[in-house]
Amino acid sequence: MNYSDAERIATVLENLDWQETKKLDDADLCLFLTCSVRQKSEDKVFGELKNLAKWKQKKAGRKIGISGCMVRKTSRQEDPKKDSLLNRSKEVDFVWKIEDSVRLPELLGEPEKLSSEKLDDYFAITPQNQNKFSVFIPIMTGCDNFCTYCIVPYTRGREKSRPAKEILAECSQAIKNGAKEITLLGQNVDSYQKTSGKPAHRSSERAERVRSVGGFAELLDQVAQIPDLKRLRFTSSHPKDFDDSVIAVMAKHQNIERHLHLPAQHGDDAILKKMNRKYTADEYLEKLAKFRKKLPEASVTTDLIVGFPGETEEQFENLLSFYRKANFDFAFFAKYSPRPETAAANFPGVVSEQIKSERWHRLNELMVKTTAKNYKKLLGKTLEVLVEGYQNDVCFGRSSEFYLTKFPGEKELIGKLVNVKITKPRDVELWGELI
Ligand code: SAM
Ligand code: SF4
Repeated sequence: MNYSDAERIATVLENLDWQETKKLDDADLCLFLTCSVRQKSEDKVFGELKNLAKWKQKKAGRKIGISGCMVRKTSRQEDPKKDSLLNRSKEVDFVWKIEDSVRLPELLGEPEKLSSEKLDDYFAITPQNQNKFSVFIPIMTGCDNFCTYCIVPYTRGREKSRPAKEILAECSQAIKNGAKEITLLGQNVDSYQKTSGKPAHRSSERAERVRSVGGFAELLDQVAQIPDLKRLRFTSSHPKDFDDSVIAVMAKHQNIERHLHLPAQHGDDAILKKMNRKYTADEYLEKLAKFRKKLPEASVTTDLIVGFPGETEEQFENLLSFYRKANFDFAFFAKYSPRPETAAANFPGVVSEQIKSERWHRLNELMVKTTAKNYKKLLGKTLEVLVEGYQNDVCFGRSSEFYLTKFPGEKELIGKLVNVKITKPRDVELWGELI
């Protein structure tokens, strides 16, 4: 989501005649798009700010701004009522809520450059897609789920869906500009258009347009039909809302990637209840079985949290056993990090850092073993890979199944879809050769 936001910010800055530089010493402005899902992400920002304090002193007029989840109130250092981040970090000149990005000219001291037509609509800003071949397109903002560990509903607000026409137009434009892959983004894509929050726009005419497409399955179906779209991804689905209609659309269109990211968060029912996830481990596994029956060639990945308050050894073992049953192809997992304002921050039974680390390593061991076992089956198979990058004569990218694949190749292949024969599955990476 931050990556996608950065592309809109780049457009605003370019319209203000700012130019991008890769070298910090050439820069006069440094902006951060922050994450606060875990304390570690916030600590990183404060670490960077310490380094930037020296950069700022070297030349008069240099500015630092912060946006993203760490910001609650658009404000400047000189404002009497300002965001607490500005009190904590004196080197920061201003902070802004991402939806206030249209106010950047004012915050940068260039109010005469404010464009009145964009004043109330962040999504009307055309993103400057950095990686033109792979583009992220938000379909909604915020979240209404209030999982007890999660800060997102507090930082990003209530769930709001973007009008389908606007999303379809942005997708079509990205494809015209050369996009081969589009990723539709939302904290809970399955509830697109289903929540009570007001739509992400103001006028009634646009409210009509928002209703012109039903739920997520219908939107996915329409995006998949845009001519010349090679690959379509979406993230994240919520297990309580993911349903047969999305599975059917995935099965209908070959250009929807053969991959489902379905964050489980845990595999013990009592912990899932305390997390307010609204499904049991068995219900999750049933949905997974349905999905795999319809799309047996697809991979499944997940997100998990270890060390949630009160997690006993037995409950952690339930998580391991759930992982084995689900046979995930890959997982992203984190040690539970208490976040301010969230309900779980006050739950009893804090798990020590030592136990969290130990459980994290045990889960990691299981993940590597499971992934390696699944990847071995791919030996000799040919996968279509979208090349994302290149380093030291090696190209890397993802297959339709989201498998990270590496092979000897040239820089010119970046952005191309190529066929790669798997020759060496290595733990959580697949190595192959270009056909
Ligand atoms: N909306 C998605 C869902 O429902 O799963 C996930 C979005 S969340 C911003 C990304 C991931 O961060 C989550 O899947 C969760 O595993 C992790 N996460 C969120 N809050 C966390 C916390 N307090 N401590 C550790 N990990 C956390
Ligand atoms: Fe956070 Fe839960 Fe919303 Fe995902 S669904 S963003 S984990 S509150």
